[in-house]
Amino acid sequence: MTDIAAPAETSVRVERCDVCIVGAGIAGVNALFVASRYLSRSQKIILVDRRERSGGMWVDTYAYVRLHQPHGLFTAGNIEWTLGRDRSYLATKDEVLAHFEHCLEVVGQRVQVDEYFGWALESHEESDGIVRLTCTSSDGRVMVVETTQLIKAGGFGVVPNEPLELSSERVASVSPDFCDMRGDEMRASDTPVWIVGGGKTAMDTAHTLITEYPGREVNLVAGSGTFFSDRDRLFPVGGRRWWGGTPATHIFTELGRRFDGTNETDVAHWLRTTYGTWLTPTTGNYLLGLLSGSENKTIADGLNELIMDHVVDAVDRDGETDLVFRSGSAKTIQPGSWIVNCTGYILRGDPPPPYEPYVSDSGAIISLQPRSATFHLTSYMGYFLTHLLFLDKLREVPLYELDALDLRKKSNAALPYVLGTLAVHNLSLVVDSIPSRALLDCGIDLDRWYPLPRRMIATTRFLLTHRRGRAHLRHTLDTVRTRFDVRCGPLGP
Ligand SMILES: Cc1cc2nc3c(=O)[nH]c(=O)nc-3n(C[C@H](O)[C@H](O)[C@H](O)COP(=O)(O)OP(=O)(O)OC[C@H]3O[C@@H](n4cnc5c(N)ncnc54)[C@H](O)[C@@H]3O)c2cc1C
Repeated sequence: MTDIAAPAETSVRVERCDVCIVGAGIAGVNALFVASRYLSRSQKIILVDRRERSGGMWVDTYAYVRLHQPHGLFTAGNIEWTLGRDRSYLATKDEVLAHFEHCLEVVGQRVQVDEYFGWALESHEESDGIVRLTCTSSDGRVMVVETTQLIKAGGFGVVPNEPLELSSERVASVSPDFCDMRGDEMRASDTPVWIVGGGKTAMDTAHTLITEYPGREVNLVAGSGTFFSDRDRLFPVGGRRWWGGTPATHIFTELGRRFDGTNETDVAHWLRTTYGTWLTPTTGNYLLGLLSGSENKTIADGLNELIMDHVVDAVDRDGETDLVFRSGSAKTIQPGSWIVNCTGYILRGDPPPPYEPYVSDSGAIISLQPRSATFHLTSYMGYFLTHLLFLDKLREVPLYELDALDLRKKSNAALPYVLGTLAVHNLSLVVDSIPSRALLDCGIDLDRWYPLPRRMIATTRFLLTHRRGRAHLRHTLDTVRTRFDVRCGPLGP
């Protein structure tokens, strides 16, 4: 017998892998696809997500959400959809989620992928070339993952929207994420609906209500209004794919050429008139959303009332119920009205997550999120940064990073054009650094909508001209950094 206590037996499970990816949304599965191209069959990827399945924000976003781009262009790498629908078809939420599963199956045929759904990354540290992650499961277990490379694909951190907190006891305040507009409760009621918000969720909600319940009173409180890219112009159908529309690369290049870091009003005007569609008299917002001319018309024709203001409350007073707006005005509404919170999810950052560079000093950790954005969408970050990671070029290529959350607070108006400029600038650096095969396999490239000859023309034009425009793009981003005092530039040495 000894009185020295035996060391407590550790019950923490330790898993080892070559690459660990945290986040199984579109950014994470693109990183997964790319990693699988560089690893051999005997190597292992661990995929961790706190949600219970793959799909990221699509898992718990409202039931009637649909992809706003043609489905084939939302994928991981070059993985084809198996739906067998027309190429212009806009996939439903369930179809999107099924495609995520399919992507995991396809990648799983090339490399070993161990999935840990229901597990959250709590912290990580790096020493001696090993990154150690501490993860906890939804039922309280702890796991340590040891890896040589970590890809944190937390993306935009979208979480479901709660209903608006309103004082009135006579309205039904709901969120689309918890109340399906096509559900029994909404169907059984005939009271007016007030949609609060002017972006994609508001359009999906208005379109659903107007088409499901013809004659129902549907109203929109659209804030400062939003314009959308016109899907018909970006993705023309039938024979027009050969001669109509404009490839996205051309639009982005032109946007980068026009924007100088100060003239967002002019660029917004050009973009809206050339490629936009909208239904509100003013359009203070543009968040890269898509809408077709016919969807726009259905909504515009079906709305009972459109108010350009921001709801701050609904109050019961003097026997009436009023919607109260930020401007100070009010609108009496029918008791029992539905108030649907469609005020948006993206880049709310409240509280903002801590800043983290897109690549760590050692080059072993990459982080795909908006505080060090390198592209306008996280899917592109997942795809291209992972290529650079495996090519060991991530610290060498002088990508610019942008604190998109901070810029959103400082200038919502400039944000989309800064993001567009950032994307063209960084793409220009990336195409000089990755094999052409990697460009060809990038399934989220919107130019893939067009027949191969047109696509090749657009790509060749970009490849021949992009270096000439780079200095202007850099100058624009430098101007943005000074003008808004925002992180926007290359990583420090
Ligand atoms: C309503 C709505 C509709 C949209 N529609 C479209 C559309 O039609 N087309 C389009 O291209 N884009 C659309 N978007 C933009 C959309 O957010 C992106 O396209 C994309 O799906 C986001 O993917 P992501 O991988 O960046 O992030 P997410 O989908 O949010 O995935 C990130 C994942 O990381 C996990 N995670 C984060 N932190 C941790 C942690 N610490 N531990 C474990 N797991 C963690 C999260 O659980 C999550 O599953 C839409 C956005 C919204 C809000």
